Amino acid sequence: MENITKKIRAVAKQALINKEIDKILGWKKGDLWSESYPVFITKPEDADSLIWDSFCINNLSKYLIKELPKYDKIGIFIKGCDSTSFNQLLKDNRINRENVVLYGIPCEGMVDPEKVKKIMLNDRVTRVKKSENGFTLTNKNTSKDVLGEEIKYDKCLTCTSPNPVVYDQLLGDVVNNNVNREDRFKGVEEIESMTPDERYNFWKGEFQRCLRCNACRDICPACSCVKCVFDNSDAEISGKAKTEGEDTFFHIVRAYHVAGRCVDCGECARICPAGIPLDKLNRKIIKDINEVYGEFNAGLDSTTPAPLVTFKLEDADTFSKQGGK
Ligand code: SF4
Ligand code: SF4
Ligand code: SF4
Repeated sequence: MENITKKIRAVAKQALINKEIDKILGWKKGDLWSESYPVFITKPEDADSLIWDSFCINNLSKYLIKELPKYDKIGIFIKGCDSTSFNQLLKDNRINRENVVLYGIPCEGMVDPEKVKKIMLNDRVTRVKKSENGFTLTNKNTSKDVLGEEIKYDKCLTCTSPNPVVYDQLLGDVVNNNVNREDRFKGVEEIESMTPDERYNFWKGEFQRCLRCNACRDICPACSCVKCVFDNSDAEISGKAKTEGEDTFFHIVRAYHVAGRCVDCGECARICPAGIPLDKLNRKIIKDINEVYGEFNAGLDSTTPAPLVTFKLEDADTFSKQGGK
């Protein structure tokens, strides 16, 4: 990881000095071991604050929507899940490819600080360091070796695109991806095996805990409308009352809005402060799309038309042929 950090700093510095880019989006270390947060750099001398470590979880792609109108050319570091998000933003015409230089970073998975804290009993963790077989966790009294699977984010354990699918320059070696694409649907299958009443009660219980903070929407690369219908008072459906109907309405509308465009980046579930398993909801739609229209992975490229957004006569759709009967 130290090697990648060196490369990141070098390419950023050179690109800014050569004026190949006006700004670069990367990550910077915070005060705590678990904090690596987004940083935007315009001066070559600031490039030395850039880092790459096991906490660079934030997806930088969506920042391009607000940053690109202000600059001619922006450089950005992207992991696999960030790159599929980037492709989706391209497909939705939210950004222009020619205004961006992509520095791809193969990703071995990011560490979930909450899992680390649980293992170390929240006892002042001071360091999390990659070891040969996993990670070494250190606090003021002791250290402990753990496997990567024990402390990586759930979304990283089922990641199907750890290597960037689009880039101009790749920093680092491609990582092996042994994940079975179907494994990500195990959580969906558990819910599918419930009776309709059980399923209804499951989601009712989950949605009841929703705070309507909109973090899942704001972080989502497929949720990029200029004005979200839930913020549009003219639409009169902002539906922010704390009722079962309005909470459910928000989630169903959002799930269908991103149907065929959800890149399965898992960011909505990761960011949710209430721990609502939104990945299972969106993956149910991905699974259904795969079964009805054939396997489709949004974000793998920026040109293949998405199911549900395009229509062919031979599609298994009956609504337009039979009037929904
Ligand atoms: S989802 Fe994949 S690319 Fe994204 S942080 Fe996890 S392992 Fe890396
Ligand atoms: S719905 Fe969730 S998993 Fe899908 S693209 Fe948006 S943030 Fe990613
Ligand atoms: S992030 Fe979680 S709590 Fe916030 S609106 Fe989304 S589902 Fe609700």
